[in-house]
Amino acid sequence: MEEFDVPESHPRYHSLLTRYRVERGHERGITSTQGLIAQGRGESIDYLLGERTLPSADEAARAAAAHLLLADRPVLSVNGNAAALVPGETVDLAAVTGADIEVNLFHRTDERVRAIAEYLREHGAKEVKGLAADARIPGLEHERAKVDADGIYAADVVVVPLEDGDRAEALGEMGKTEIVIDLNPLSRSARLATVPVVDNVIRAVPNIAAHARELREADAATLRGVLDGFDAQAALDAAERAIRTGNLAGAGE
Ligand code: ATP
Repeated sequence: MEEFDVPESHPRYHSLLTRYRVERGHERGITSTQGLIAQGRGESIDYLLGERTLPSADEAARAAAAHLLLADRPVLSVNGNAAALVPGETVDLAAVTGADIEVNLFHRTDERVRAIAEYLREHGAKEVKGLAADARIPGLEHERAKVDADGIYAADVVVVPLEDGDRAEALGEMGKTEIVIDLNPLSRSARLATVPVVDNVIRAVPNIAAHARELREADAATLRGVLDGFDAQAALDAAERAIRTGNLAGAGE
């Protein structure tokens, strides 16, 4: 595929860049064909949100950063869409929060896990988990249950972009704090999340990292204050309101 050469001034720049990255990810065997469909679904919701981060999503990103900084064993789960869209941004978020990165796929093949791990390493990742697959999330059938024993299985806080509802539920039942990044405020995963970040991963991941940089020196009491001030249901409601009414000004204030 040719290099992406659309000027940033183009009104559809971000949307076109997103498509370009997903398409390139698909060509490299990183993003599944189902992932292309998921992208289309997300894109339509993002269009209705005005392709911007709502104030409520920004608050969620800040709460996500606080959770990651307070965690003992934070893990960023990466699927084929997240890898294609935000490889470098994921590596940066892991670095600033001290989180591990684990490839975790709905349509899992070892080949695709390896391709994604390699792509993340090209973007600066040192260690990428997910290949060992030596533990299982209880309550899910074999392939979808596979995780690393010293990764997601042992994690206390997990960031799951574009997660499917069943796995989000199963991870919640394991007692994990789940930070879900999903443009659909009605999706089961978003509704099950401790912190639903209703935003495009392409904006959400760097935004969580920016908040983490700002909060990095804060003490535990300050970080807990950020968590106490966050209301997941209010964030979901604000996003739904923005989508249904188109009134972006009223979303999250
Ligand atoms: P449900 O959770 O309701 O069962 P689903 O998991 O079956 O939904 P999919 O069609 O698999 O839904 O799509 C995955 C989700 O990812 C969708 O909710 C979609 O809005 C979201 N999504 C797609 N692209 C992005 C993106 N770039 N950023 C954030 N979310 C996205």
